[in-house]
Amino acid sequence: MTQITSAEEPAVARAQRELQDAGVRTVIGTVVNAAGVTLAKSVPLARLGAFHQSGMGAAPVWHVFTIDGGIAFTDTITPVGDMRLKIDIAGLRVLPGGRAWGPASLFEQDGAASPACARGLLTDVEGSLNEAGYQAFVGHELEFFLVSPDGSALENTPWVPYGATGILDRSEFLDDLLAAMNQAGIPMEQIHAEYGRNQFEFSLPPASPVHAADTVVFAKIIVGIVSRAHGMQASFSPSPFPGTVGNGAHQHLSLQKNGLSLFSGGSGPHGISAEGGAAIGGIIAGLPDIQGFLTGSVLSGSRLAPGTWSGAYLCWGLENREASVRFLNEGGSNPHGANVEVKIIDPSANVYLASAAILALALDGIRSGRELPAEIPGDPARLSEDERHRANVRLLSDSPAAIIDTLDKSRLARGLLGDAIVDATVAVRRYEQRTSADLAPDELAERFRLAWSI
Ligand code: GLU
Ligand code: MG
Repeated sequence: MTQITSAEEPAVARAQRELQDAGVRTVIGTVVNAAGVTLAKSVPLARLGAFHQSGMGAAPVWHVFTIDGGIAFTDTITPVGDMRLKIDIAGLRVLPGGRAWGPASLFEQDGAASPACARGLLTDVEGSLNEAGYQAFVGHELEFFLVSPDGSALENTPWVPYGATGILDRSEFLDDLLAAMNQAGIPMEQIHAEYGRNQFEFSLPPASPVHAADTVVFAKIIVGIVSRAHGMQASFSPSPFPGTVGNGAHQHLSLQKNGLSLFSGGSGPHGISAEGGAAIGGIIAGLPDIQGFLTGSVLSGSRLAPGTWSGAYLCWGLENREASVRFLNEGGSNPHGANVEVKIIDPSANVYLASAAILALALDGIRSGRELPAEIPGDPARLSEDERHRANVRLLSDSPAAIIDTLDKSRLARGLLGDAIVDATVAVRRYEQRTSADLAPDELAERFRLAWSI
């Protein structure tokens, strides 16, 4: 039995008692790796203290397990060594069926954070923001396609984008999903039928970055449980069915200093403050460098077409859905206050890493006093090539190889987030490119339709 320090004993013992009262027998702790894949260990409830204190063993290759179950070894990630997967007691939540879930982080055997642990990196970035006097909030949107258990498309029922039809056709699934979310304490804000056939989207309210990312993982687990109960699966692939819209994983960010928003009440456009403008400037300037963390998978490129609201253009604009950074103004119609929505992110990204990269760019922009670039108010596709050039707006890359090469060479990304996570991300994504080079787009999409599902 693991030693539990006296200061922690009450927290672990209390958690154990509460979970026992809730009928929990098994505790599952998850991490998300560089390929965006969710990995887990589970323990009997009696082992909760050990799971938290000394953690469960995890080989270093956990960082680089690929979407097809392969391993993308690097110079430093080899079959040798061991890490500890430690569950966060404060994040424990009860699941249906006698199970509980908690977010976990990866540590070295000496207790230091594993440098390629994305949750650890986001914890650090959140800490740096707080030390500099800023509070960050992140609101996530989750889009997914309902598919058959084997990943194939569901039968061709009529579908109206954003229609009431889908809500009625899938009402039993949606009722159960809402009930499960409520029971799990996940405050779902709204759910609607999306543009794609059998595609749904729901959004979560803003929360502190690590907590918000944890909730995304938990929400995906709930979606997985309820989908299975209805004889389906949920695809979180960026491009489940090529040739039509894909799934986004947009993140809404807001920043405050002394309780005041950096994105309202200032003297810049739409009330953006100088620091808010610098944060947006930092995000726009660094987006190509860190795109490999946001849309890095082998399927990410086929989502990134203009006209699909995936934010394929590198620019920002008020309520502009074709901009990689959409600005949402303060006002009565926006109860959460002014924020920026990074639309380019897709669900093959590691949610912790995507937040960490964006927030690190925002802080870097503030620290280096970046200028807010000129706003692009309309659809950039309606401008001529020449006008786009003059307005300094361009399409972000949709080539997985180019996106990952840029990340690999980026001193900015390496400086902000460290070599370990860049190298792990480059390794898994290059493995994807290498092993799927001969596949036709439809075959590629089919093979990995459920790769990012839980
Ligand atoms: N499905 C779109 C995407 O891939 C987003 C649609 C929307 O704006 O809700 O990002
Ligand atoms: Mg949407």
